[in-house]
Amino acid sequence: QVRVRFAPSPTGALHIGGVRTALYNYLLAKQLGGKMLLRIEDTDQTRFVEGAEKYIIEALSWVGITIDEGVGVGGPHEPYRQSERKAMYMDYAMQLINTGKAYYAFDTSEELDTMRQTLESQGSAFQYNAVTRVKLNNSLTLSEEETKAKIEAGEPYVIRLKVPAKEEIRFKDIIRDWVHVHSSTIDDKVLMKSDGMPTYHLANVVDDHLMEISHVIRGEEWLPSAPLHILLYRAFGWESTMPQFAHLPLLLKPEGNGKLSKRDADLGGFPVFPLEWTNPDGSKALGFREEGYLKEALVNFLAFLGWNPGTEQEMFSMDELIAAFSLERINKAGAKFDINKAKWYNQQYLKLQSDEELAKTYLPDFESDKAVKIVHLFKERVTFPQEITKEANNLFTAPATFDATIVASKWNIDAKTGITAFAEALPSIENFVADEIKHTLHDVFEKLGIKMGKVMQMLRVAVTGAGAGPDLMLSMEIMGKDEVTARLTKALN
Ligand code: GLU
Repeated sequence: QVRVRFAPSPTGALHIGGVRTALYNYLLAKQLGGKMLLRIEDTDQTRFVEGAEKYIIEALSWVGITIDEGVGVGGPHEPYRQSERKAMYMDYAMQLINTGKAYYAFDTSEELDTMRQTLESQGSAFQYNAVTRVKLNNSLTLSEEETKAKIEAGEPYVIRLKVPAKEEIRFKDIIRDWVHVHSSTIDDKVLMKSDGMPTYHLANVVDDHLMEISHVIRGEEWLPSAPLHILLYRAFGWESTMPQFAHLPLLLKPEGNGKLSKRDADLGGFPVFPLEWTNPDGSKALGFREEGYLKEALVNFLAFLGWNPGTEQEMFSMDELIAAFSLERINKAGAKFDINKAKWYNQQYLKLQSDEELAKTYLPDFESDKAVKIVHLFKERVTFPQEITKEANNLFTAPATFDATIVASKWNIDAKTGITAFAEALPSIENFVADEIKHTLHDVFEKLGIKMGKVMQMLRVAVTGAGAGPDLMLSMEIMGKDEVTARLTKALN
């Protein structure tokens, strides 16, 4: 059975790259009838941020990624928060100690620094590995009694993996194909810290094993850790049930020069978080939801950041993505984060919403018939639905100024004569709807022998103050006869 997991660390707001990781995991699980797990990796207490877990759960639920098993849902492998699984990790670390695959190390940070400096002054880089480990203060150099005595005396220690000196590590990543690494390049990584907490590596591998994860789908930044994880699976004797790996391409800055960071968003004024996030200092970081992105647009945009269906189709609902997705079609190369593409998707999805629905949500204070007309007027012209509210309010605010450039060039005798005559004809329009207004306008201009095209922009300026905008006849219909009359009277004076 396919079992995948999203395993974020609650260190702050969920970056949009994390949402993409969760999405790809979810798509695969749903396509293959598998399970999607949410595991919170909170063993690094120094980086723990209050509220981050709640944020992650809210964000996933907003975009429509449902969790089958895990934090907030429960399941057969509870608990799913690593801090609550602490005791278990120690048992597994001890298992490696007892089989000689791991060892205690008592080096203080000063000792490690000295070692590092000495080696660096000799021109070699410090690695806590098969070559250097025997010179260090650990259970491989101390006698069994000495080690025991130190532990009993309460001396702080860590447990390190005894990385084999000469072993070829080879694994097939679904996206990157074969990856080869030699064990001599890998440090004897710490598995248990002196505070009794496991490191990410130990907890991650133990949990993926116990939770029967079939595919590890995660960001490229974890690729360098994968060989170590393979060594851990070997050390535990779990190699035969090891999950398959897929490391997703990086998200690049909009210009493609380097990794997308939170700072790029600050500079560009675009969101990189799904939901707004309040920093501990009270400042806020933009969220897609609050900026007015529809979740369907965000999901579609994210799905295409690193994956494509191999066809021309660009619009995909979640269900269509589930059907079309495949890990094999994920690119190796980093994906440029183009916020304009996200905006384009938003426009497309906005257009797909019914006028009635949008009217209810965004113009609740307007009479419903009128609200629907307003939505219709602006829907194709805006990127975000809340702009409809803004435009609606503008529509009912008489212009305080008139576009000066247009007035200077177009407020001529024809415009004056034509607009005056149109204003005088307004009372005769019984049914004040766009078509009738247009008719009257035509009639008035025909009688005067003035070309309508020459005056239309000036008429728009007289009614709205601006030289461009949505359909003018429909705008006037929505404003109503009295309002249009008032505005023209004011403009003509
Ligand atoms: N806790 C890691 C993170 O924050 C999980 C990486 C993984 O999926 O193995 O991204």
